[in-house]
Amino acid sequence: MHKDNLQKGTRAIHIGNEPDEKTGSVIPPIYQTSTFVQSSPGVHKGYEYTRSHNPTRTRLEECLASLENAKYCLVTSSGMAAVSLIFQSFPQGTKILCGDDVYGGTYRILNTIFNDRFELKHVNTTDVDSVKTELNSFKPDLVWLESPTNPMLQISDIKAICEASHALNAKVVVDNTFMSPYFQNPLDLGADVVLHSLTKYINGHSDVVGGAIMLNDMTQFDKLWYLQNSMGPSQSPFDSWLVLRGVKTLALRMRAHATNAIEIATYLEAHPKVDKVIYPGLQSHPQHELAKRQMSGFGGMLSVYIKGGLKESKTFLEEVKLFALAESLGGVESLIEHPAIMTHASVPLEERAKLGIADNFVRISAGVEDIEDLIADLSNALDRI
Ligand SMILES: *Cc1c(COP(=O)(O)O)cnc(C)c1O
Repeated sequence: MHKDNLQKGTRAIHIGNEPDEKTGSVIPPIYQTSTFVQSSPGVHKGYEYTRSHNPTRTRLEECLASLENAKYCLVTSSGMAAVSLIFQSFPQGTKILCGDDVYGGTYRILNTIFNDRFELKHVNTTDVDSVKTELNSFKPDLVWLESPTNPMLQISDIKAICEASHALNAKVVVDNTFMSPYFQNPLDLGADVVLHSLTKYINGHSDVVGGAIMLNDMTQFDKLWYLQNSMGPSQSPFDSWLVLRGVKTLALRMRAHATNAIEIATYLEAHPKVDKVIYPGLQSHPQHELAKRQMSGFGGMLSVYIKGGLKESKTFLEEVKLFALAESLGGVESLIEHPAIMTHASVPLEERAKLGIADNFVRISAGVEDIEDLIADLSNALDRI
């Protein structure tokens, strides 16, 4: 049995989670240590210091590399640490073409921290022709995209963008956090680098902050590891162990998230107090066909325009009981939030308006609770408006 032939649900449980060779412990130990003994100066068993490497983190990296069909994986202390390390691995003056609807933290770091280091242009990556136009005129070295985007859930054609970018020698990075490796594998579609916030679906239990970078190029991987070791954003052994534990149920959770999300989307789409629902699994989603082609499931995120304005959306958000009013996503518990005030407040008002992040716009992360309870909670909150 070759491990690469296993299905993803099996790999999530078995790769990196092999029993401890020394003791037979079915669950791998947490190597809660900062340093490792050497038998003679420079003679060690592959581990010297936990900022550089740690056996618990190595196990998680093996598991996550396998889930993204990647040769290499680097686990970082947060999703933003992964984002920063990838940007740091590109030289001063790099031209970056970035999706116009990316994670707020990615938008912020590009526009306020790295703005004097890189040349930056934003583009709507859901329109392949606009990307091609920019590839020809702006001539970026790096194309950065999320699909589906956050919070508008727009889908970009990853394969077409990779082909067009590679034809002009631009690298493509895909933030795959929203789909998790269970529903989408961008490296298989041609991407050069994939990143995840482990904080979300991969850990799945809202109790760890972490990030991961997956790729097939050894030189680029070495550079990323060198940067991590030099700058310090490595994940702690205990957090790596928690993610190794959480990821085991990724397949079960993703299927449950997606089943609940389509039920909620269908319910809300027919509700008189709702203007519009955005979910890639709905026929009404403008890129439903592309989503079907590119992803093996539609994920657990959906966005909703409540009828009315700030007053109505606030009432709705205050009245839900099971849905926790909180930032973040991808945990087993359902979350709900107001992007304009919460997650996307750092995106300038005019950008938000352009994207459609209005006062009546609400983002939902469908958890894995029983659907009857979730629908009843939403129904009750909508009645209070
Ligand atoms: C949360 C998130 C990040 C940042 O991850 P942290 O773990 O919060 O640092 C990056 N990209 C996307 C799409 C995210 O949802």
